[in-house]
Amino acid sequence: MNIQDNISRKDFLKNATFAMGGLAVSKGFSPENLPSENVFPSTKDKLSLKNVRLETGFDYEEGEVIATKTALFLVEIENGKITNIAPNQPNAKAIDAKGHLMLPSFRDMHIHLDKTFYGDKWQAIRKRTNGVKGMIALEQKILPELLKTSTYKAEKLIELLQSKGTGFARSHVNIEPTSKLQSLKNLQKALENKKNSFGAELVAFPQHGVFYTDSVPYLKDAAQMDIDFIGGVDPFTIDGAIEKTIDFTVQLALDNNKGIDIHLHESGESGLKTVEYLIEKVNENPVLKGKTFVSHCFVLGKLEKTKQEEIAGKLGASQVGIASTIPIGSLIMPIPTLYKYNVKVVTGNDSIIDHWNTYGTGSVLQKANLMAIILNFYYQEVSKLPQATYFPLMTKAINNGQKLEIKPISHF
Ligand SMILES: [Zn+2]
Repeated sequence: MNIQDNISRKDFLKNATFAMGGLAVSKGFSPENLPSENVFPSTKDKLSLKNVRLETGFDYEEGEVIATKTALFLVEIENGKITNIAPNQPNAKAIDAKGHLMLPSFRDMHIHLDKTFYGDKWQAIRKRTNGVKGMIALEQKILPELLKTSTYKAEKLIELLQSKGTGFARSHVNIEPTSKLQSLKNLQKALENKKNSFGAELVAFPQHGVFYTDSVPYLKDAAQMDIDFIGGVDPFTIDGAIEKTIDFTVQLALDNNKGIDIHLHESGESGLKTVEYLIEKVNENPVLKGKTFVSHCFVLGKLEKTKQEEIAGKLGASQVGIASTIPIGSLIMPIPTLYKYNVKVVTGNDSIIDHWNTYGTGSVLQKANLMAIILNFYYQEVSKLPQATYFPLMTKAINNGQKLEIKPISHF
């Protein structure tokens, strides 16, 4: 343990753009312990919280982190930002946080807020036939009905995420000839309704292929509609062409100054070729570095070790990130190898009770937990990796000295 750790942690706390409600607290912070929204009528209010537990550093044994140090503080907030962290004053006239741990709110970096059964009647997962193309046929059938209430359900889903401590999401949103731009418009309405308590960035997602169904005109329109990334899905399997689809995606992103985040489930040769081609295009267009991601990228888990290292190295060098939902079962994502080559790794819930999957919990903390279990991570191993800031653990953010922009959340 050294003083630097303490200082950087404190500095982080002081400097981070914490919004009033943008603070997740440990699981035990039950709603009855918390002030109601009536007590927090506005983020403009000046607020004091006492008995707030904050991490202050690490405990080491033989150079290995064995625990985190914590202490209680008085935290003052004004205009939605932390203005002062003072030694605890148990007798102060302040909201009592009762010793619970305060954290920046989490970020769910891969989710589909626009299509969910959540908030409606529960439905069992359906048997998939004919792979993703079968799912496209299913979507063409059910989306018109889903869209009727998608704003309401997106808001309910956002509330679920907030209840798990998440204040920001990167949401893919269907752009294809069935939904046209309606799924995007409905989601934007939900986000507008939640804008005081939840932030998001959007990926225009041609779920039904760019060319398999003609999504091109809709993608071009969506690119003008306050989205952040151009999406995609399995170019070879769906569109039957890697280069043509990636070229279109890259050009649309360049023309509109957007990032790229494509779904890639293909785990064979086509998956590898797609990753390599995308990396090539990013290197040709360096403006895309740092804002290009491959979601899932299962092929990485299937490569032999030498190839894995080679691709991880290329991803790191071209600053192409990976959004992984931390699959379990036969496929283990080589996250330690990605970290080794400075690849940004983000995580998210993906599906929450929809026709793709019914097992989403809404918790990214659970995803981080899963990652730690599967990969047998040691705390120190994780915490010293600066790129791990993309996982929602505060210590990593602190180690990187990164200011997190935290959107306020009104539910805990
Ligand atoms: Zn997805």
